[in-house]
Parts: sequence; structure tokens; C-alpha cells
Amino acid sequence: MCELLVGLPDVNVLAVNDEPGLPLEVKIETRGPRPSCRDCGHAAIVKDRREVQLVDLPSFGRPTRLCWRKYRWQCPNCECPTGSWTEHAPTVGWPRLAMTDRAGRWVTHQVGKSGRTVNEVAVELGTDWHTINDTVAAFGRPLIDDPERIGEITAVGLDETLFFKLGRWKIQKWATSIVDVSGHYLLDMVEGRNAAAPCEWFDERGTQWCDRIEYAALDLSGPYRKVFDTMLPNATQVADPFHVCKLANQKLDEVRRRVQNETMGHRGHKDDPLYRCRRLLTRADERLDDKGRTKLVGLLEAGDPRGEVRTAWHAKELVRQLYCHTDPVTGLAWVTQLGHDLQDADCPPEINQLGRTLIRWRHQIAAWHHAHISNGPTENQNGLIKRIKRVGFGFTNFTNYRLRSLLYAGRPNWDLLATITPQPR
Ligand SMILES: [Zn+2]
Repeated sequence: MCELLVGLPDVNVLAVNDEPGLPLEVKIETRGPRPSCRDCGHAAIVKDRREVQLVDLPSFGRPTRLCWRKYRWQCPNCECPTGSWTEHAPTVGWPRLAMTDRAGRWVTHQVGKSGRTVNEVAVELGTDWHTINDTVAAFGRPLIDDPERIGEITAVGLDETLFFKLGRWKIQKWATSIVDVSGHYLLDMVEGRNAAAPCEWFDERGTQWCDRIEYAALDLSGPYRKVFDTMLPNATQVADPFHVCKLANQKLDEVRRRVQNETMGHRGHKDDPLYRCRRLLTRADERLDDKGRTKLVGLLEAGDPRGEVRTAWHAKELVRQLYCHTDPVTGLAWVTQLGHDLQDADCPPEINQLGRTLIRWRHQIAAWHHAHISNGPTENQNGLIKRIKRVGFGFTNFTNYRLRSLLYAGRPNWDLLATITPQPR
């Protein structure tokens, strides 16, 4: 009866302890034929019994512990080198893991696939953060290391990701996401945001794998350009539209803050016209309704006497219009012309700088019109970035962060979870 409820094959339930305020405790032992020594084949004798307590799945809505009275076996043959060994029953639990097998697979699914927090799951099971985290790592490692996970890729992207930011001193830790741009999932994550670690990663994949890559997407950053120049010299580099538009928005913000300071003598307050229109400015033009546009124009008239913010706003919209073209030749002509126009002496210095950046990256920007690897999908791309971000922040440990990001956004084969062997550290 009890065995039925406990739901583990070949175990005897010895006792169930129910003390108020404590997790439900189920005491079990395995049953089955006495094992033989693996060296000499003698029937083993019991050396002693040892009890391990494992965190199990909740039963009847209550946190539960499985107390497993493990056998320690001994070879009776004194000539034999084997000596003694502890019984092994993977359907119950694994050595060096503090949770039962079934609870381990369940928490890995909850945290890894459903993206629940470790804390939330720990509370549900009545245990602590470390127990859950260690278990997710043990079951998660084989999933993310599965060689089938990274298939044949034709378009790859690099993106810097902030995963830790500590309040007062603004300590920041960066990682680089390596992304399959056409399939929209995370291939891997390496520490830092310079060229060294991604180069090493591509090197490990081997030249054959690298040669298959036709397009390499990047933000407008020098280090990643260097990675692609070195490791994927035959791939066409494509500036990611998301980052190009983000840069235009950043420059617009810089102009707005400078003009705010120059005209009002202080940073934006909630009643200042330029502060009030900050969100309307960065919103895409097609997402502004008539009311919004009228409000924006009015606020600019009030707060932008020399029309600098207005110029920056137009510049941003022109940059966004780059992606309305689909023809590669027009694309390059457009970005080149725009880059030069924005360097005009009438434009604010921030916009001149934007113009210079556009010229420096014009081939990569226009290459998008050949590749089209991240437009329609830009939204997906952002979705992926959001997924990674959702996992991020608060991680101090890169290894944990990488594992969690890859489980959540790295498209592991979750069908394998039922059968993999955990790898505890
Ligand atoms: Zn033996």
C-alpha cells in the first residue's frame, strides 16, 4: 500500500514520520537479490547500513524527504581486492546529489525550461537555494553539452550581455552571447566582451564548422569585428539592425540631455518639456498617433530652441528607414548618403558622430540588405535577448549564468532529460 504511494520500484517503505512543522519523512530501503562481488563473484555480505536524506517531490502538498537506508556491501573473500562498496540505485538517487532522481529531473525542468527562479522552487520543496542550484547544474550540464544541440549553422551573431551589476559601485560583469541568428537560439555564452574568448570558442568548433557560416551578425563593436575578421574571414559581416537603431536612439538621448542642461541648467525634472517627451522621442514614428505627434512637436517647440533635438529625432527616423529598403544597391547608397548628411556642420555634434559611425560600418549595415538575417526576425531576436536578460542579473558566478541561460534559451533537447545521467561537480 505504502509502496504504491511512494511510487518507486523495488523499495520497502520502513516508516513514515509526520512531525508538525517538519517535512514529511518517508523511510525506505531497496529490495532485490543480494549482489555479487564484481571481481570474484562471491555473494556480498552486509557491512553496515547508512542513512541518507534526499529532498523529494512534495507529497500531498507537503515538502517531503526520502530517508534511504543504504546498504554497504562487502566481499566476504579476503583474497579479493574489492573490499566494500555502497549500493547504487539510480531510480532512487545518485551519489553526491542531495535530491532524489525524480525530484532532480523535475527541478531541472522547472528552473531550466520554465524559467522559474531557484528560490521559488526551493521554497516549494522546502529546501535551500544551493541544493536546487547544484541539482539543476548536475542534470543540466549533459543537456547543454549535448553535441547535437549546436547543429550546422549558417548565420551566427555576437552580442554583449550584462549579467551582473552591483548597486553602489556599479560593478559590472559582462558576457558575450553567441547566437544562431537564423534559428534564433543561444549557442553559447563566453566570459567577457573582448575578442579572446569568442575566438577560442570558434576555434574549438573547428574550421569545417566555421566555413559553413555565411553571415556573421554583430553590434557596432570593434572587438566582435576582430573575432569575425580572424575566425570567419569568408563570412559576410552584418550589422544588426537592432543595434544600429539603438545607437541612433542613444545619440538622440545624448542630444536631449545636453540641450536640457544647456537651456535649463539642470538635469531633467518631471515638468521640463524635454524630459516629458523623452519616451515619445525614442518611440518608432509609425507607433506615434496624431495626439502623440502633436504633443511631441509642442514639447520640442517649448524645450528645444535651436532645433537640435528635432534634428536628432529626424536622424533617428532616417536611420530606421534604412530598413524599409530591400534592395542591396539602394541600401548602400542610402547609408552612405545618410552618413555624410549627418556629418553636416548644422547637425549637433552627437549626430555628426553617428554619421561617422554609419560611414565606418556602412558595408556591414548595407550587408543586411543582402542577408536579411535579422529583420523580420528582429523581433524574435529581441525576444531572445529578453529571454537571456530575464535569466540574468544577480548572477555573480559566470558558470551558473551560462548554464541557466543555455537551458532557457539554448534549445536543449528536453526529451533527453528523462534518460540522462547527472554529472555532479
Ligand atoms: Zn570479491
